[in-house]
Amino acid sequence: MIKDKVAIITGGTRGIGLETARKFLKNGAKVIIFGSKEETVNKAVEQLKNENEDYEIMGLYPNLSDENSIKECFKNIHSIYGRIDILINNAGISSNTKIEDFTIEEYERVESINIKSVFICSKEIIPYLKETKGTILNTSSMVSKYGQPSGVMYPASKFAVNGITISLARELAPFGIRVNAVAPGITKTDMVASLPETMIEPLIKTIPLGRIGEPEDIANAFLFLASDMASYITGQVLGVDGCAKN
Ligand code: NAD
Repeated sequence: MIKDKVAIITGGTRGIGLETARKFLKNGAKVIIFGSKEETVNKAVEQLKNENEDYEIMGLYPNLSDENSIKECFKNIHSIYGRIDILINNAGISSNTKIEDFTIEEYERVESINIKSVFICSKEIIPYLKETKGTILNTSSMVSKYGQPSGVMYPASKFAVNGITISLARELAPFGIRVNAVAPGITKTDMVASLPETMIEPLIKTIPLGRIGEPEDIANAFLFLASDMASYITGQVLGVDGCAKN
């Protein structure tokens, strides 16, 4: 569905990003994963290469909140592959800190990785996507619909991701660039492993499909939205959440 397309996935070293990289590689794309550290990036690249030595995979670790670093990175990727078709803004950090304890430092950390990086990467990728009529995909969250009982800036950041998605879809449609988001429900990754059991168990009970999401559930949605099968879909936030309602 995406054969020979060149896809950049931020936060591609584990969880949803890593599974999406795997799914895209299996479907013939060339994938560049971004992570925060050299060793985790190298480990993820090695893991995927071990699964199939023909996979065209590369890993980089730019500062996602630094415009020059991203500009340079995209330029290098374009010079290696000759094109860029897909950007997935997936890197993110969560929070469940109560408002009284929420420091300005944590506010800035969440804002920087969950919003600023999406803004910078989306801005800097546009010249390349104009050439290919490519697509931007963002990882939102179910909490962008319902909020969350603690960690206020996490859901707030995902409301912002939806705003960026819907607005850029309208701004970039004249160039043939589609912009969509996937809003996962609770999904089995390290991010969730770090949350207390007391928070997870009651949540699973409220999911009508009766299970927590797998990273592959989210990767499948990204694959569809990146492919030509979604060529008339833009400005959408697709819930992949087992019909969860909170
Ligand atoms: P994860 O913690 O397993 O992976 C997060 C990824 O983001 C990692 O690759 C990490 O390297 C990268 N990252 C984190 N901080 C970074 C930084 N400062 N610079 C560069 N990269 C950084 O999490 P995940 O569950 O796979 O989450 C991926 C996305 O899905 C996030 O945007 C998250 O908000 C969203 N999401 C997750 C769930 C869930 O239940 N797991 C639900 C809804 C939305």
